[in-house]
Amino acid sequence: MSIISSHNMLKKAQKDHYAVPAFNIHNLETMQVVVETVAELQSPVILAGTPGTYSYAGTENIIAIADELAKKHHVPLAVHLDHHEEYEDIVYKIDAGVRSVMIDGSHLAFEDNIALVKRVVDYAHRYDVSVEAELGRLGGIEDDLVVDAKDSLYTNPKQAVEFIERTGIDSLAIAIGTAHGLYKSEPKLDFERLSEIRSIVEIPLVLHGASGVPDKDVRECIKRGICKVNVATELKIAFSDALKQYLIEHPDANDPRHYMKPAKAAMKDIVKKIITTCGCAGKL
Ligand SMILES: [Zn+2]
Repeated sequence: MSIISSHNMLKKAQKDHYAVPAFNIHNLETMQVVVETVAELQSPVILAGTPGTYSYAGTENIIAIADELAKKHHVPLAVHLDHHEEYEDIVYKIDAGVRSVMIDGSHLAFEDNIALVKRVVDYAHRYDVSVEAELGRLGGIEDDLVVDAKDSLYTNPKQAVEFIERTGIDSLAIAIGTAHGLYKSEPKLDFERLSEIRSIVEIPLVLHGASGVPDKDVRECIKRGICKVNVATELKIAFSDALKQYLIEHPDANDPRHYMKPAKAAMKDIVKKIITTCGCAGKL
């Protein structure tokens, strides 16, 4: 099977102390870059898309492309729903072939978050689909999601234990000071909180908002128990900056087979860098 759940991938990462990167992809080109690079480096990987990405590219198109790329490069792929909030939408995408989901009820009250997540877990586990949920709030912007940085709440370790027990989730996204989008100043991460959560929680822990976090801090998070690292913004910037540069230098360019090349190469460098930081090369 070419499209797999992220459950075993993350369990293995947790046991062997590395992290699996989840790269946000948007189209054929960005999917090609990620899969070609992980095949070269023999790295496990999660291809992630927000609801906006799935409606832009088409759920069935993303699954079909992932399936072909997985077969071509002999790499199993976890195609993941990033920050999905609607039960019906998740059910639709599981039925379409997705095997890894994040249900984000972190904006809800604790009991409402539990109820929504539990409902998704009950459906997802029938199909061996892994479920990630979030407790605490990240700052910043991810597509339509806006959280005032000041109002973002860090994950409460004791609540995390109860949340996992009552929902049966496979992995937990925690808030320890990272944010989505770009940072205005260097983020100060609460490493102690991460260690405390790791010491009392059994399941894999997920770091969102890694773009712009210094590599040494990401490595420290992995050392302290993070086993999935989400990267979106950094990839988009590398891709679009190289594309803009090419079009400025070649104002007559009109062939996507040419102008996409430097953009893909620039994105590939970031994918390689993140794989090195995650320590997951050769772990396929
Ligand atoms: Zn996120």
